[in-house]
Amino acid sequence: METPDRIRRVVILGGGTAGWMTAAALSRSFGRTVQISLLESAEIGTVGVGEATIPTIHWFNELIGIDEAEFLRATEATFKLGIEFVDWTAPGHRYFHPFGQFGATLPGVAFHHRWLKARAEGCDVPLSALSLAAQLAAQGRFAKPVGDARSILSTLGYAYHFDAGLYAGYLRQLSEAAGVRRVEGKLRNVVRDGANGFVTALTTERDERLEGDLFIDCSGFRALLIADAMGEGYEDWSHWLPCDRAVAAPCTRVAATTPYTRSTARAAGWQWRIPLQHRTGNGYVYASRYASDDEAMATLMTSLDGEALAEPRLLRFTAGTRRRPWRGNVVAIGLSSGFLEPLESTSIHLIQSGITKLLTLFPDRGCDPVLAERFNTVFSRDMDGIKDFLILHYHATSGRSEPLWQHCRTMTLPETLVAREAQYRRSGRLILDADELFREASWLAVLNGQGIAAQGYNPLADAIDGSTNRAQVLQIADVIARAAPTLPLHDAALAQRIAAA
Ligand SMILES: Cc1cc2nc3c(=O)[nH]c(=O)nc-3n(C[C@H](O)[C@H](O)[C@H](O)COP(=O)(O)OP(=O)(O)OC[C@H]3O[C@@H](n4cnc5c(N)ncnc54)[C@H](O)[C@@H]3O)c2cc1C
Repeated sequence: METPDRIRRVVILGGGTAGWMTAAALSRSFGRTVQISLLESAEIGTVGVGEATIPTIHWFNELIGIDEAEFLRATEATFKLGIEFVDWTAPGHRYFHPFGQFGATLPGVAFHHRWLKARAEGCDVPLSALSLAAQLAAQGRFAKPVGDARSILSTLGYAYHFDAGLYAGYLRQLSEAAGVRRVEGKLRNVVRDGANGFVTALTTERDERLEGDLFIDCSGFRALLIADAMGEGYEDWSHWLPCDRAVAAPCTRVAATTPYTRSTARAAGWQWRIPLQHRTGNGYVYASRYASDDEAMATLMTSLDGEALAEPRLLRFTAGTRRRPWRGNVVAIGLSSGFLEPLESTSIHLIQSGITKLLTLFPDRGCDPVLAERFNTVFSRDMDGIKDFLILHYHATSGRSEPLWQHCRTMTLPETLVAREAQYRRSGRLILDADELFREASWLAVLNGQGIAAQGYNPLADAIDGSTNRAQVLQIADVIARAAPTLPLHDAALAQRIAAA
């Protein structure tokens, strides 16, 4: 039965990663039952960075029906097993935040309590020895997870690095083939209904008019619909996350690509290194309070591991969020909804989780405020959880003396983070909400990597005899140590996957 109140026309403002991911997902999900238009301006351009992802990217690729081999080819992608953090806790120190799980799923208590017990009883096996992903990364190797829980390969997780420009182009191709109409031009005016404040149309400088029932704001940091038209404010988190600029520059690729992102702490922030098939992406994220743009550029350009392929680009941002990214019939997705620096590669995840939430809560034309409220509540929870996880990296350092790091070490932390950290220190427990993005393995990797040690562990682990526990923990480390060298080098694994029909 036809429902007269159904949304028939969706207008997306912006054609960056957020705009084209939204267009691809909506066109795939609704087919031609909803007419989708996308307005973007080549003159304004896109942020054009955003090249490292986390494993949730697989949901999105599945949602839009992407073939992995084609995707790897089209976006010059590489595989990613996690992030190597260099010089964070103190200069000279490194640790790895792997995807996938530590140890193995054994009956009873969570594995990391077994490890903590073994440590408390004198076994010095490091956490990284219990992650196949971390061991593969250290050796420049790669393998995909398998479903069989008896195999150590089942403990792996992976994501991708890709060229952001090629990715948006690839999604544009898919979207246009599925019927999305792209309109080139600059926004001139946002037309609103005087009675309920809903947006009814966008007009362009060439006097085109895009009418719609639902408007998705993917206009990036400009937030032209959610902020300028709907008046939604921005909650500034820069007192916790003081980095507010980045310089980015690609360089030539190295001989063998590494299956991980590297994040190196610097005096006023940190530097990313993202290996792609055709080049390496680099950027220095810094706090302008502690380094000038010239200093940041010099730091970046003198620490590239290949020849620079372009002049450095400067980007400005403020860490923070919009509490109501959905207002009326406007939904903000992407940078317009908030920004958390790319330390844990979460922005593309937030785009796809915004899209998934929108699809689950997709409204009729009246835009039931209950749906918007639900969207906003879940979005806020996502942002708050990620924010705490990022702050942990900055504040838990002991050996960095520069002003940024001193500030972060002594700043007042969110209560939620203080409580979580204290509980971990006391009991080794990681108390998480069911829908938090970063799970136990991630918190464990970063807490441990940043030098926070648990004093206790779950008493349930004492139900296992100490020597049996120790032998099992060591056995898993041994299985991992023996498996890793038998798996393919990353470039070989990538070439094989790309060649797949
Ligand atoms: C330094 C940095 C590093 C990052 N690294 C990562 C990472 O490693 N991993 C990750 O997941 N994310 C990363 N991100 C985030 C990621 O880049 C963004 O989430 C992603 O690119 C989405 O951006 P967007 O589409 O919201 O905005 P944009 O790319 O800015 O796109 C905005 C669009 O709106 C259009 N537009 C704007 N104004 C108008 C107008 N007046 N008229 C018409 N069109 C208009 C523009 O033309 C453009 O098409 C990073 C971000 C920064 C700043």
